[in-house]
Amino acid sequence: RAKEAGRNQIQFYEAAMHARVNERTLIEAELRHALERGELSLHFQPKVKLLSGEMTGLEALLRWHHPTLGMVAPTRFIGVAEETGLIVPIGRWVVRAACAQCQAWQAAGLAPQRVAVNLSMRQFSDPGLVDDIIAALDDSGLKPQWLELELTESLMMHNVGAAVEVMTRLKKLGVSLSIDDFGTGYSSLAYLRLFPVDYLKIDQSFVRDMLANPNVAAIVRSIISLAHSLDFKVVAEGVETEAQLAYLRRYQCDEMQGYLFSRPQPADGIASLLGQEAALPQPVRPEQGQRTLL
Ligand code: C2E
Ligand code: MG
Ligand code: MG
Ligand code: MG
Repeated sequence: RAKEAGRNQIQFYEAAMHARVNERTLIEAELRHALERGELSLHFQPKVKLLSGEMTGLEALLRWHHPTLGMVAPTRFIGVAEETGLIVPIGRWVVRAACAQCQAWQAAGLAPQRVAVNLSMRQFSDPGLVDDIIAALDDSGLKPQWLELELTESLMMHNVGAAVEVMTRLKKLGVSLSIDDFGTGYSSLAYLRLFPVDYLKIDQSFVRDMLANPNVAAIVRSIISLAHSLDFKVVAEGVETEAQLAYLRRYQCDEMQGYLFSRPQPADGIASLLGQEAALPQPVRPEQGQRTLL
């Protein structure tokens, strides 16, 4: 009996492992062609001021629609793209597509919003990064002030000297920089002040747990005051409830991004949101998928 159960267990693990390996192989093979086949697109999620509800920017989030796999979540393919280096051409496309979209909204007369793009470790350490960004701005005609780049702590801490140098070159172009998923990596607080960043984004895991766990709440409050003392603005990620919003307001968090205000959505949904921004006094009128904060 026990032996048989053990054997079943082993078979179960083997099957699970094969499934994982197969999934990875499949994703890798399919991802190689995703760009040329036009399967990639961007969704955009608004960021808003906590006090006024005023929109302050949009984050571009990569979406992969595969003909048979359907929508593949970034968590399933970004890691593979990183490991294989496919993230470099894909990431270059993301920057170009985000710049082009942002410029198109402005050309259509919509309220201008800064667009943030996520950069991965491989892209950040690519020696061509700064030139790629310059080319994307030139080709789209977008002014650098409308582009923001999101970097993670681990990417910055990997080689602090090199990171500060690249970040300084990017800042000189006139783009904004933010630290994404803050609190999940290993930041040396002593180094944090060396980075020329504008925003610090509190990871959504802290926001999710802060009201149930006093220790997490203490971490959130500390991150907010740490960021302010370094002159960074603070954005809370993954805000889903009014209670979370109220707590973050009470502790002077500056901005939020989350389902409570809006899910990430395709460019045309954003265009109608931006149209309202331009036409209406604040706060914005509540619409489908969008909540007013006041
Ligand atoms: P991220 O940069 O931290 O992006 C925020 C993630 O949180 C997005 O997931 C977004 O859809 C999700 N989110 C936003 N509000 C809420 C909320 O209220 N509740 C919950 N539960 N989730 C919320 P998404 O789009 O699945 O992306 C996951 C991660 O994949 C991103 O995390 C980012 O690290 C990576 N990623 C996405 N697009 C790109 C890209 O173009 N390049 C690179 N290098 N990474 C990307
Ligand atoms: Mg991000
Ligand atoms: Mg994040
Ligand atoms: Mg995240």
